[in-house]
Amino acid sequence: MPAPLRHGPREWTNYHGTETAQLADLIELLNSSRESGRDALREVATDVQALLGDASRMGAQLRPLGAGWSPSPITIVQHGWLVETRRINRCFALGNDDVASGVDASRLLLVQAGATVDEVNDSAEELGLSLRTGGASNGQTWAGACATGTHGSVLTAGGIQDHIRALQVVTPSGIFWVEPARPVMSPAFVAATGSTIFRDDDVFAACLVAVGAMGFITAMVIECVPIFMVRNIQKRARIGRDDVTRLAEGDFRGFSRLYGLDEDPHFLQVILNPFAPFEKDALLRLLYLRDHDPSIPPPPRPLTGAGFDALTLIGKAMAGIDLFRADILQLAMRAGYAVRRDVDDPEAIATWGNTTEPHNPIANLFNGSVTLTRSDLDRAFDPLIEAFLSGGGGTVVTLRFMKRAAGLLAPARFPDNVVIDFDGPRSDVSHRSYRAVVARLDAMGIRFTRHWGKTNDLDAARVACDYGDDYRRFRVAQRRLMPDLADIAVFRSDPLIHLGLIE
Ligand SMILES: Cc1cc2nc3c(=O)[nH]c(=O)nc-3n(C[C@H](O)[C@H](O)[C@H](O)COP(=O)(O)OP(=O)(O)OC[C@H]3O[C@@H](n4cnc5c(N)ncnc54)[C@H](O)[C@@H]3O)c2cc1C
Repeated sequence: MPAPLRHGPREWTNYHGTETAQLADLIELLNSSRESGRDALREVATDVQALLGDASRMGAQLRPLGAGWSPSPITIVQHGWLVETRRINRCFALGNDDVASGVDASRLLLVQAGATVDEVNDSAEELGLSLRTGGASNGQTWAGACATGTHGSVLTAGGIQDHIRALQVVTPSGIFWVEPARPVMSPAFVAATGSTIFRDDDVFAACLVAVGAMGFITAMVIECVPIFMVRNIQKRARIGRDDVTRLAEGDFRGFSRLYGLDEDPHFLQVILNPFAPFEKDALLRLLYLRDHDPSIPPPPRPLTGAGFDALTLIGKAMAGIDLFRADILQLAMRAGYAVRRDVDDPEAIATWGNTTEPHNPIANLFNGSVTLTRSDLDRAFDPLIEAFLSGGGGTVVTLRFMKRAAGLLAPARFPDNVVIDFDGPRSDVSHRSYRAVVARLDAMGIRFTRHWGKTNDLDAARVACDYGDDYRRFRVAQRRLMPDLADIAVFRSDPLIHLGLIE
């Protein structure tokens, strides 16, 4: 297997141009071409352990990098080594010999850490499987997306990390196969991957959403569901204040009856114009489960798109304009949802993988979000919009809904969650508006969490407070996986220290 490429010292900037690091080395992992997944995992993990060992001996700090999509500084390691994983992107089917007794291998997929969500979708579909949920876009790596608890708006699912059943995690001291206490993979499989079995419920739960603070993840076993399709309804509609109450109560069927089909939606997303949420059109997206029909051809990609780019670009233009903002934003929202699919339009049906979209980078993006108990949405909605506008506002406000997600540090930690995204141009106005939202929630005594990968203004004290005992368990689990403090030290970075995830 070819040795990792070492590109040497350089400046590195993340995908959206929000953060820059002066690196001592940019290192690119190269993949194993061995046919068997077990062998490929062993070879890659051996390379990674060697790198971690070098870093430890030289006192260097090393950070695993996914697609670099997180606008927050969690990928940044000033004067350290940034290790790209994008080429470690193979997916393998698993057989009954690979799994522990009593485990059904037919829905499992072995995924290398750097495979993008898009690549995992494709591999799953080839095996007649689907992911249960995911984010709006699909260019994140699997490990990077899980590391921050990436989510969409599937009403019965948690975050993308909920798919994970086992992980291969590398530290300077070892290559570990981390599973919950109940075995998932067979001892022969684990041994062939060069890993030592590490079965521990809390260590597993800590690794699911680890923000890069639980070692270097090289591969995961994920559990999918039988392949399904979704019917897509995407439209502009004028919703009322009572619809917010309806959504806060979880009456998604009632909402769907009014604006979509008279059936339970699988996915429901509402994009609002905060300058006039009920006087201007909202953008609605509703997806409904359908049986898989292989005769339906894949749509030209993307099937639909949330139009974030158009919205963000117009938002940038709006940053200095005070008059007619609601109308200007409405024009942008119309452009964003240029393709509409209403209830009586020809049905737009696609697999789950073909409903997510690729993304082109745009600099100057701001995105921040808050996650709260869904029922708090009703009392929080008006004050939050008012707070957002008091700072000047951004572009759009998006409501997404999800169940409690797996992982000690999963932001979706309430039984039923609403995630409210505040998108906008990367400007003081957007940031000030987001801060006003956070302050208002605090003033109202409403509990909430924030996305690790987005702008969040978090610090160690706040993280400890938001996650309480789960934060304490995370730190204990970290020491169980890496009892030698020198191992943890390799993964140090100022942003992670600031968050209290590492010392
Ligand atoms: C266009 C766009 C759309 C988005 N849509 C959504 C959305 O719909 N829902 C949502 O919730 N979020 C969304 N996000 C946020 C995004 O999903 C997260 O920021 C995600 O973490 C990015 O994945 P990545 O592969 O780029 O990870 P990176 O940003 O590269 O890394 C994230 C963290 O994971 C760590 N990490 C990466 N790989 C490994 C590894 N192999 N082992 C250990 N640690 C690792 C890194 O060190 C870092 O701390 C979006 C972001 C963008 C830019």
